Amino acid sequence: MARYTGPVCKLCRREGVKLFLKGEKCLTNCTLERRNTRPGQHGGSRQRKLSGYGAQLREKQKIRRTYGVLERQFRRHYNEALRRPGRTGENLLQILEMRLDNLVYRLGFADSRAQARQLVSHGHFEVNGRKTDIPSFVAKPGDVITVRERSKSLEYFKTRALQLSQKAVPGWLSLDIANMSGRVLSLPSRTDLELPFEEQMVVEYYQVR
Ligand code: SF4
Repeated sequence: MARYTGPVCKLCRREGVKLFLKGEKCLTNCTLERRNTRPGQHGGSRQRKLSGYGAQLREKQKIRRTYGVLERQFRRHYNEALRRPGRTGENLLQILEMRLDNLVYRLGFADSRAQARQLVSHGHFEVNGRKTDIPSFVAKPGDVITVRERSKSLEYFKTRALQLSQKAVPGWLSLDIANMSGRVLSLPSRTDLELPFEEQMVVEYYQVR
């Protein structure tokens, strides 16, 4: 599937917020902190006041870019969120959080969602004992994500195993470092996620489209 391959810091500059797309590097050497202007020839000019539609669009793009999901797939996740009972915006964030690439990132097996996506598509993980190389696979509570036996001997995962004890894992996941596996304990609640998004604006964006 086509994927954005340009400079990711440009996406943060476009949105005017840190989207943490480069993992650890974002904490120490952030481009946005040095140059907080929109990309492009007129990026330095004053930010125009956004219309209601503009604000909704920007919020959607912010969430979509954070999770590294293309428009069509994002829309598919939104439609699934709509079918589920409860608040659609919260359902959408839960679905995005339960994507396999995001879980691999949250469990600390990768520094960023982009890196996690690559590790998943290279076939290094299994879900409930079955090889799964689809980053958009949506897990459910009770699922177990494990580094495949043959991948555990790779230098990357050996080094990761040593670093994992210093990583904090969210309360809705559990990590078993000895077995290089993690379990989804429950769906994350909105308060668990601590994300600076206004997901209701995404719902409003799609409602009129
Ligand atoms: Fe965004 Fe990270 Fe680049 Fe900063 S370093 S602009 S947070 S991707």
